[in-house]
Amino acid sequence: MTEPAARPRIDTSQAHPARVYDWLLGGKDNYPVDEAVGAQLPPEARDGARQNRAFMQRATRWLAGQGVDQFLDIGTGIPTAPNLHQIVQSVVPSARVVYTDNDPIVLRHAEALLVSTPEGTTDYIQADVREPGTIIEHARTVLDFDRPLALSLIALMHFLPEEQKPYEIVAELVSALPSGSHLVLSHASSDIFPELSDQVTAEYAKGGIKLGFRSRDEVARFFDGLDLVEPGLVTATEWYRDEPAPEPEPSGIYGAVARVR
Ligand code: SAH
Repeated sequence: MTEPAARPRIDTSQAHPARVYDWLLGGKDNYPVDEAVGAQLPPEARDGARQNRAFMQRATRWLAGQGVDQFLDIGTGIPTAPNLHQIVQSVVPSARVVYTDNDPIVLRHAEALLVSTPEGTTDYIQADVREPGTIIEHARTVLDFDRPLALSLIALMHFLPEEQKPYEIVAELVSALPSGSHLVLSHASSDIFPELSDQVTAEYAKGGIKLGFRSRDEVARFFDGLDLVEPGLVTATEWYRDEPAPEPEPSGIYGAVARVR
């Protein structure tokens, strides 16, 4: 882990995505400014956060079950048990996981992400996905880029509106992955519940957070040139592998896993 010079400074004057998400999940690592945004969102936003988290768990458990033992997770969020490494290492104890987030509050709580199995490794760097080269350079010190790995961008890319070049960023990250690697990506939709999507976007904007929710076709573009694994690009609650579906719930989140050729 990259040691900060001092305790990371937490700005409590403005809402932050990681902390609003923590509030939506019922966590304690948020401040009144974050709650002010979260409390104005429709109740479906809380369902969406929980359903997204469940998608992360199923997708990563499935990948670990396929033998994937190296993960680069960008936009990790405030630790919420089970974290990605706990899921993966429960299947493959020797798995190596590199976590990345740009929010100082995640760095402050990173110890919870660093409790690895003795056989495995977990690592954390504070970095911005808009600097993919920096992230890959660091990840190479922990992960073996000559063997397949999984890149997870879960509920991250909708924080990058068009002008921040989200497609170029994902393409650059994916281009660093060896053949046989996987991309796991989930993303809030603009077209499943359009009115809710507009409402959520407007409330985040009031809190100073710009969102870029996307349509199904726009989310599908992130997977251009990759092979989607079954069941393809679906909503978070529809993404099921070996496990039985729970009670059907609508989810305003798209999710998919795809393989790098
Ligand atoms: N992946 C987790 C958390 C999603 S919340 C999950 O799905 O459960 C989105 C996270 O992305 C937050 O922790 C936020 O701090 C982080 N994030 C937002 N913009 C980012 C950026 N430009 N670079 C890196 N992380 C970012």
